[in-house]
Amino acid sequence: MTDGEGRLAQPRDAFALLSHDLRLEILLALLSHWEAVDTEPQRYSELMRAVGMEDSGKFNYHLDRLRGVYLRKTDAGYVPTASATALYRAVLAHRPTATPDRTHLDPGVDCPRCGAGLAGVYEREFFSLRCGSCDSVVEEFTYPLPKNGLAERTDREVLEAVYDRAREHIGLARRGQCPDCGGTTTRTVEASAVTETEPPIHIDCDTCTWTVRTGFMLPFLTDARVLAALDAVGVAVEECFPWELPNPTATVTDTEPAEVDLVVTTSEGEVTITTDSDLSVQEIRTDCRASE
Ligand SMILES: [Zn+2]
Ligand SMILES: [Zn+2]
Repeated sequence: MTDGEGRLAQPRDAFALLSHDLRLEILLALLSHWEAVDTEPQRYSELMRAVGMEDSGKFNYHLDRLRGVYLRKTDAGYVPTASATALYRAVLAHRPTATPDRTHLDPGVDCPRCGAGLAGVYEREFFSLRCGSCDSVVEEFTYPLPKNGLAERTDREVLEAVYDRAREHIGLARRGQCPDCGGTTTRTVEASAVTETEPPIHIDCDTCTWTVRTGFMLPFLTDARVLAALDAVGVAVEECFPWELPNPTATVTDTEPAEVDLVVTTSEGEVTITTDSDLSVQEIRTDCRASE
């Protein structure tokens, strides 16, 4: 068995349970009444009526197949499990059978290189920012957004939503948790890439293939101490897009284990963030210039 087949054993079992019309109808009947903590359990007879079954033997057999996986029995009746509602939420988020309502967006921001208006491109549920004028892609701004993220948002609001999402997700992944599956992540600092143009930080989920390649600033922008230190030297992170933030100078101060100093310099002072190979913040030093 290949690794791929091993990894697919659980999804195969989980999806196969829904390959029967009656089981699918039972699950949909439960989900149609699902109101999170306010869910009213459905009684056996209600559920049987909802799916139009009269043969209780057949109904019992399929109800049993779902039990413990997609539904559970309480004293008051049946409710969907957390796995069932997570699948349901994934479908609401990604809308697999729908086409996105927009693929080209005009978020009203200018290219950091040439000043022309940037275009937002939404393809395969990834949002990216591109400049048609100088033919550049804004680095650190390609991030997945489920199709539902486009709903009820203007082009500008989509851009802001993608950035908020990337920041939160990458911050969580830096602290060791995959934003998609809740599993552990592996963080790597490519010390050799510090002086090159490739993104030096790699964060990968150990379970579900969630992965990101990024620069030094973004993963730390959910750390309250980092935000406070940057604020002290005049960097208002909440009001900036990533390309508007000062680019830190990264210096590898140790290799075994890795330690990197990130230095952000502004007209108001200097912040030094010391981080290790796991990307945890070891120390922050703030040096504000005396105001004249
Ligand atoms: Zn440009
Ligand atoms: Zn994951």
